[in-house]
Amino acid sequence: MPVVPPPAENAPSAAPGETVAEAVLARQAARESAARTYARSLPVVPVRAQGMTVEGADGRQYLDCLSGAGTLALGHNHPVVLAALRRVLDSGAPLHVLDLATPVKDAFTTELFESLPPRFADGARIQFCSPAGTDAVEAALKLVRTATGRSGLLAFTGAYHGMTAGALAAGSDTAVRAGLGGTVQQPVRLPFPYDYRCPFGVGGPEAARLSAHWTTTLLDDPKAGIEPPAAMIVEAVQGEGGVVPAPDDWLRELRRITAARDIPLIVDEVQTGVGRTGMFWAVQHSGIIPDVMVVSKAIGGSLPLAAIVYRGELDVWAPGAHAGTFRGNQLAMAAGAATLRHIRTEGLAARAAELGRRLLDRLRALAGEQPAIGDVRGRGLMLGVELVDPEAEPDPRGTRPAAPRLAAEVRAQALRRGLIVELGGRHSSVVRLLPPLTMTDEQAAAVLDRLADAVAAACAAPGGVPPQGENR
Ligand code: PMP
Repeated sequence: MPVVPPPAENAPSAAPGETVAEAVLARQAARESAARTYARSLPVVPVRAQGMTVEGADGRQYLDCLSGAGTLALGHNHPVVLAALRRVLDSGAPLHVLDLATPVKDAFTTELFESLPPRFADGARIQFCSPAGTDAVEAALKLVRTATGRSGLLAFTGAYHGMTAGALAAGSDTAVRAGLGGTVQQPVRLPFPYDYRCPFGVGGPEAARLSAHWTTTLLDDPKAGIEPPAAMIVEAVQGEGGVVPAPDDWLRELRRITAARDIPLIVDEVQTGVGRTGMFWAVQHSGIIPDVMVVSKAIGGSLPLAAIVYRGELDVWAPGAHAGTFRGNQLAMAAGAATLRHIRTEGLAARAAELGRRLLDRLRALAGEQPAIGDVRGRGLMLGVELVDPEAEPDPRGTRPAAPRLAAEVRAQALRRGLIVELGGRHSSVVRLLPPLTMTDEQAAAVLDRLADAVAAACAAPGGVPPQGENR
């Protein structure tokens, strides 16, 4: 990694006897809000980063398996991203253009549409949104409500769609919603087929069948007590919910159910998109064509960018129906176009699929040796390791209670070994691995070694550490 000193105006101060990292962390704890998340569990002060490696102000190097919560498909500071950014900066192009047309935006849109399943891209429309995933979710909800004239929503247990009011309601985190009073309109909550903690207690294809059956029953029973919904929103692999891949057959069934009843299907690809799951878009595993796709995170090539892409027929909203000052981030569009192109031309989705399969095998072998690992799952380079209480009595299907303290200890032990991982899942007990698609075989081996050591050390530590609340 090239050693470039930070610019003088950014040089942070530290008291005598205190390191810069300690001083920065102490000021952060004193000044930033109680709602800060990753910063609590990952006391790292990144000063340089390249690919999968992050260097802290303390000089330590870490392998980054968080990747900006799944944003950095090409890792940190990838040369094609930096070159794209420099080209825009050196060209004299405006950096802020509201939603005006520019060659940079034109190129990004072309690249994005080329990456989409052709049956979806044909005749599709794109709406650029304010730059967070949550705003694109809001836009998707607004679009389908306008197009259908209905307001209800079908959403799933374990879902995560963002932190603004509509997205928060679509998600299933009641703890975050607590205290917001009645401001959040609740969707109809449907069971997501989470095999390890099956909502029906049966698991496997039967659970998926029951979930679909429950959905049709609710929709077709005139006395079920629900209004006809404006849409169904689903993640093809639940990320924050604990890395839970949706069965392909189940997604196809949901597509049939919604299409037959004229209910738009919104697929939230904010975390799963851009090669992460082993296909360019996660919907391609099942072959379903959504009505609306929500995209963000990796599409901006490390910079903030969010959009919805949707079937042209839904494009009935009025001019200005979803406005926002920051919908034209030229640097993000340039970085994003370069990222999409690089992933396509280098076949990085297929690489993610292949590496992901190998990692899953190795993690399953580790689970065979470690009773504290209850389940290992994932798709492509979106992997989850669920920590459980090995002493607890398993239920009839072999499922043990979640172990949030142990999971938090694994995260802490991993950090000590130079590995950045975060937790997710219903009980914050799932260690999530979201490495860049550019991870080498050697880096993958180092991740596995460090994680195996961290699990062993956490199991040996008395009590674990208290959970810190969920992160996203
Ligand atoms: N949808 C999904 C599936 C996500 O994983 C996230 C973020 N983790 C969001 C929406 C919200 O994105 P943002 O944090 O950029 O608002």
